[in-house]
Amino acid sequence: MGRGKRRQQTTRKREGFARASELFLPELRDVAQSVEAPSARALLQGGYVRQVGSGLYTLLPLGKRVFRKVEQVIREEMDAIGGQEITMPLLTPKELWDSSGRSQIPELFSVTDRRQAEFLLALSHEETATLHARELKSYRDLPQVWYHFGLKERDEARPRGGLLRLREFVMKDSYSFDADEAGLAESYALHQEAYHRVFARLGLAVYEVESDVGVMGGAGAHEYMAPCVSGEDMIVICSSCQYRANVEIARSQEHVGHEVVEGDHCAACGQSLQLLKAIEVGNIFRLGTKYSAALGATFTAEDGTSKDLVMGSYGIGPARSLAAVCEQALERGRFVWPQAIAPYDVHVLALKGAEDAAGLMAKRLHDRRLEVLLDDRDTRPGDKFHAADRVGIPLRVTVGSRGLKRGVVELERLDTDFKQELSVDIVPEIVAGIASD
Ligand SMILES: [Zn+2]
Repeated sequence: MGRGKRRQQTTRKREGFARASELFLPELRDVAQSVEAPSARALLQGGYVRQVGSGLYTLLPLGKRVFRKVEQVIREEMDAIGGQEITMPLLTPKELWDSSGRSQIPELFSVTDRRQAEFLLALSHEETATLHARELKSYRDLPQVWYHFGLKERDEARPRGGLLRLREFVMKDSYSFDADEAGLAESYALHQEAYHRVFARLGLAVYEVESDVGVMGGAGAHEYMAPCVSGEDMIVICSSCQYRANVEIARSQEHVGHEVVEGDHCAACGQSLQLLKAIEVGNIFRLGTKYSAALGATFTAEDGTSKDLVMGSYGIGPARSLAAVCEQALERGRFVWPQAIAPYDVHVLALKGAEDAAGLMAKRLHDRRLEVLLDDRDTRPGDKFHAADRVGIPLRVTVGSRGLKRGVVELERLDTDFKQELSVDIVPEIVAGIASD
């Protein structure tokens, strides 16, 4: 048995594509009723994630593949605006947070080491980034944009919704350092552009809305809100002009002295406002000199005087974005990934009696540099289709013995309802073309 398995794995390495029979792809048919968010149910059923504790999830192999693609999209867009990737530790000395005045935030987890020294688990990294920014000495060293993908820990009062509100999660956070407000405005605008490109590439509909600064502090902020019914935030949208805000901002603006309700008049144009539920997937803050003044991060300006660095901070949650993509897909009627972040480029289903031909098809697709998942498990066709629907890869090639007699396989695009029988020989080229679009 063990020997056979080892031989199979050697084969797989040479094949280059993935065989479902050899992967860890657990199914979960009966998801607990307490799991309410549709994305959480779909990700549990499809074998993408498993819960470890309240607000704590493991990304299983399929989930990790999607996560890595989301991460890579963000990385490419951060690099495109001149961001430099770093890694900062999760465990941070409490004194660092004392100096910024943030050590009493209730969401912070604290730990002590064996010598009773106190540490906080970072919920963001403004303090650490500013500590390093002390090494920026001159206006000639500016601007700087640093980013990292790092674990964050938040002692949430109510973790919920699967990946929508976690206690431990990876965030892309970036920090900009400029000589003045004009420089910060430029760094901020670059991040806005980068974020729009990220969400477009992820196939995620978002509104950029004004928001309050929350625990980050600073002079102004925007949130990126993905509309979906599972969202726990409310945003206010004007359908006739560009006015968008979260409800707190809308309420605080003088014309609306009460809770904003559907049909209230827009501050900018007077037309009626719409309220939407949404998930916050990103946020950006003009911090100004709040942290640099507190931590002594100064530089020598062009006129020779010493000034505080002017700072911005910018976050995106890759796991929350991934969950929001699911929510929006499910609201459109089907759990299917955008091609750009699907766990595999193409799903090949081997029906009974067509296993060898399906393996050959998987190999030919792999030869075209596609990431291929071959479902070669010994299951009935109906189960195979249901399992594939739970995985949600948008491109599917079904290889069955009946079609093979006529020299055809079935190609299906789950994102467009395209389904057609095509000659075996032309399928690899067509699939490669669609996948690279
Ligand atoms: Zn308006």
